[in-house]
Amino acid sequence: MKKIVIATKNQGKIREMMEAFGYLPVEVVSLADFGELPDAVEDGESFAENAQIKAKFYMEHTGCACLADDSGLEIAALGGAPGIYSARYAGYHADDATNNQKMLEELCIADVEDSPASYCCALTFVDTDGTVFTTSGRCNGTIRKWPKGHNGFGYDPYFYTREFAGRTMAELNFEEKDRISHRGRALRQMVSKLEDYLK
Ligand code: IMP
Repeated sequence: MKKIVIATKNQGKIREMMEAFGYLPVEVVSLADFGELPDAVEDGESFAENAQIKAKFYMEHTGCACLADDSGLEIAALGGAPGIYSARYAGYHADDATNNQKMLEELCIADVEDSPASYCCALTFVDTDGTVFTTSGRCNGTIRKWPKGHNGFGYDPYFYTREFAGRTMAELNFEEKDRISHRGRALRQMVSKLEDYLK
C-alpha cells in the first residue's frame, strides 16, 4: 500500500488529514513517525510555493510521497498582511496572543475598525517519481477588533465568518469550521485528486 507522509507535527492537522484520507487505499503517517528531521526553509513568496518547498523537502528526507500545507490570513486593510508571515507576524518567538496583539496594533495604525479578510491554504502532494499537484482553498470573512469564542486557534476569535453570520471562527465547532475553512476546502479537492491519481 502506498505510504503518504503528512509534512507536519501539528496534531490538529494530522487528525484532519488522517480523517480526510481515511478511506483512500494509502497508509498515512506523519513527520512524527520519522524522529528528528531538519526543518524546511520556507522562503517562497506564496502559500503555494511554500507548500511545494515543504512537500519536496520532506519527500527527499523520508523517501516517501509527501503532502504539505501552508496557510495564513490576508487582511485587505493591511495590504494582504500578515499573509505568508502569519505564523510569525509578531516576530520569531510569536504565539497566537502576540500575533493577535500585533494585528490589533496594525489595524489601529491603519485607522480601521474592521476589514475584509481571507484565510488561505495551499496543499501540495509530491511523489517520489516527481509527480506534483497543488490545491488551494479560501475562506472569506471580516476581521474585527473584538474577539469572541474559544475554539480553533490563531486569529480565529477575530475572524467573523460570512457563512455563519455574526459568529467568529472561534465560535464554530470542528465540523462547522471544516465545512467552510480554507484548509477543509483545499483538503476536499486534494482527496478527489488523489482518488484519481491512485486509480
Ligand atoms: P501554518 O500553515 O501552520 O504555517 O500556519 C500559518 C499561520 O496562519 C498559523 O500559525 C496561524 O497564525 C494562521 N492560520 C492558518 N490557518 C488558520 C486557522 O484556521 N485559524 C487561525 N489562524 C490560522
